[in-house]
Amino acid sequence: MSDDTARPYDPGEPRARGGHGVVLGASIAGLFAARVLSDTFDRVTLVDRDQLPVTDENRRGVPQGRHAHAILPAGTRGLQEMFPGLLEEFEAAGTPVVREPTEMHFAPGGHLLCQEGRYADPTPTYQPTRPQLEGQVRARVAKLPGVEVIDRCEAAGLLSTPDGSRVTGVRVVGRDGGAERELTADLVVDATGRGGRTTRWLADLGYEPPREDRVAVDIKYVSRSLRLAPGALGRRKVVIVGAEPGRPTGATLLQHDQDHWMLTLIGYSGHHPPTDPADFLEFAKPIVPPDVFEALCAAEPLDDPVAHRYPASVRRRYERLEKFPDGLLVFGDAICSFNPVYGQGMSVAALQAAVLRECLARGRERLPYRFFRAAGRRIEVAWQMAVGSDLALPQVEGDRPLPVRLINAYFTRLLTAAERDPVLTQEFVKVSSLLSSPLILLNPVTVGRVALGNLSGRPARPGR
Ligand SMILES: Cc1cc2nc3c(=O)[nH]c(=O)nc-3n(C[C@H](O)[C@H](O)[C@H](O)COP(=O)(O)OP(=O)(O)OC[C@H]3O[C@@H](n4cnc5c(N)ncnc54)[C@H](O)[C@@H]3O)c2cc1C
Repeated sequence: MSDDTARPYDPGEPRARGGHGVVLGASIAGLFAARVLSDTFDRVTLVDRDQLPVTDENRRGVPQGRHAHAILPAGTRGLQEMFPGLLEEFEAAGTPVVREPTEMHFAPGGHLLCQEGRYADPTPTYQPTRPQLEGQVRARVAKLPGVEVIDRCEAAGLLSTPDGSRVTGVRVVGRDGGAERELTADLVVDATGRGGRTTRWLADLGYEPPREDRVAVDIKYVSRSLRLAPGALGRRKVVIVGAEPGRPTGATLLQHDQDHWMLTLIGYSGHHPPTDPADFLEFAKPIVPPDVFEALCAAEPLDDPVAHRYPASVRRRYERLEKFPDGLLVFGDAICSFNPVYGQGMSVAALQAAVLRECLARGRERLPYRFFRAAGRRIEVAWQMAVGSDLALPQVEGDRPLPVRLINAYFTRLLTAAERDPVLTQEFVKVSSLLSSPLILLNPVTVGRVALGNLSGRPARPGR
């Protein structure tokens, strides 16, 4: 991967135009896919089984919307390109924006990263709630010419040519009890989330399903919205404390409005956060810095703690299939669902959107083959970073071959040095934001800084 992981997509004039694209699932990935299809298809139909809210509300099909969601800078760039002006509107409406290291307390793996200096990359982090982000993106997609959004409508199966070599549409059932009907399409995009309907549908058409890579993380999220006193956390707008080998728990505290914050506590297997309000707060005590805990104790709860279990990261290797029907793509979490603690899902969906746009610009010939291969390369980097970090925790089961152990040992040293080194901090943040290849962390200058930072003899600063 080059150092321009999230470069703007400008593939030039597409080779094929017209036709009907159907996107299944109108969550973030489906919306991004519909946005891209609308550039080259005359008509795009977006289908979701939920009733889609008019305002920025949580909904049943996206239970994760009740929990802390951050979009990484790579995703921010994707939003800027696909929906110009959207992020500026959020900021004008009061959404907090992180631009300076002092505004972020980021402690991955037990190391509080340096808060000095300025970010070299100017891409800021915007902090709308997940329903706000999805709601505003949906409103924009719905206004695109040729786009129709059909909600309360469930995709039930695929239509295909008699020999199954091409998908020609989808069977859908209205959730109001109507009869099944057929939507014919030149391209169907499955963005129905980690449940991944396509694996079953492929079997119906006589194809092998993709191999699945799984990492059982057994994570539980418990989250609650809070009103914090203005200025309670000084300049900080986000506090992220990751798990570490001796403490497989973590916390994210995100500011969404002047006084509205979301606190999410997480724990790996056997260390799950409780939902009882008093115990929930107590769980945060050994994780967050003392002044943050004080602010949490003084905060006014705005709702009850709500839980979400996440058993395993799942990656479906569509790029390795020898046979796959034309006229069908899989997109977003349906290809790869990442351990959410690394906040990658929406940003990887944005990277897939860029890949799809580039693929469509070169025509529709062998589209699935080209898309899965190119998307697989983008996914690979994010997947390896997430899995590598998970395997640094003894609580996560899985093989740890020598390269994983060596890279994790190096990362521990890199994070130790980054506690006092703003340059290393910035390089790490660029990589974990999916803006740069992890290879930049292995260049000789960086390795030298890491070595020096670990020689200094100064004790590491605690992640808290
Ligand atoms: C607890 C948690 C926290 C997360 N935090 C972050 C974060 O901080 N940052 C980040 O970038 N990502 C995060 N993610 C991941 C992020 O939510 C997803 O990557 C993102 O929503 C894109 O997923 P998706 O659109 O592919 O699928 P989903 O969001 O799962 O949406 C699937 C959609 O398909 C619809 N659907 C399902 N079946 C059918 C059907 N048969 N017919 C019609 N419609 C159907 C559903 O109603 C839904 O709208 C988190 C995930 C979890 C679980």
